[in-house]
Amino acid sequence: MIRFIDVYKEYDNGTKALKGIDLRIDDGEFVFLVGPSGSGKSTIIKLITGEIALTQGKLMVNGYSLNNISPRQVPLMRRTLGIIFQDFRLIDKKTVYENLAFAMRAIGASSRDLKRRIPYVLQLVGLDQKADRYPGQLSGGEQQRVAIARALVNNPNMIIADEPTSALDVSVQAQVINLLKDFQEEKGVSYLFIAHDLSMVRYVSDDVGVMYLGQLVEVCEAGEIYKNPLHPYTKGLLG
Ligand code: ADP
Repeated sequence: MIRFIDVYKEYDNGTKALKGIDLRIDDGEFVFLVGPSGSGKSTIIKLITGEIALTQGKLMVNGYSLNNISPRQVPLMRRTLGIIFQDFRLIDKKTVYENLAFAMRAIGASSRDLKRRIPYVLQLVGLDQKADRYPGQLSGGEQQRVAIARALVNNPNMIIADEPTSALDVSVQAQVINLLKDFQEEKGVSYLFIAHDLSMVRYVSDDVGVMYLGQLVEVCEAGEIYKNPLHPYTKGLLG
């Protein structure tokens, strides 16, 4: 569950990156955020993860108020999030299994938990046969699936994906989205999916938010955006 209520972010150098964001993502929802470079998408992610603080407004993340969260609570809040980075950020010197084990140990999971959970998650993403490979021995699509498995391994309430599929070809992108959707249906996990274009929107069912110059200029159901785009930027994207 995420709630942005009239959120503003101004960086130290005076850049007004977010200007009054209202955004709500309920449990089990798949929300897609699209917008050009510099429109404020990464700033939204950094606010959610607690990497930066907001300037004005209210932000709730999975039951934590980020307005007055204590430093001690930040790691607990982060455990409710699974993050898939654009560049995967796998540890090259660790095998697939060890990459997931590292993420689980970081939150204090026991060896017994690891033995039970990691094979299950690797099977979910179709990599159970490749647990002993190193990232460099996998294709781009497979590395992506390891990154997804790592995001899922600690059972988060919400997955945040920062342009997760842009490096992959369209058929692999579609597989990735379907994989995430299966998991969503199984577990009721919610998703915030960031992208710079609309090519993946057709694969998601819930809301689409369009960012432009630090504002959410359009929020609508995924199907609607094709039928009736309102903002000139959205029209251009479909163009
Ligand atoms: P996007 O992810 O959509 O490309 P960002 O959230 O990265 O957009 O950036 C939004 C605006 O904030 C841009 O004008 C960018 O230059 C500015 N910005 C981002 N990070 C910083 C920072 N650390 N300091 C100052 N300005 C920043």
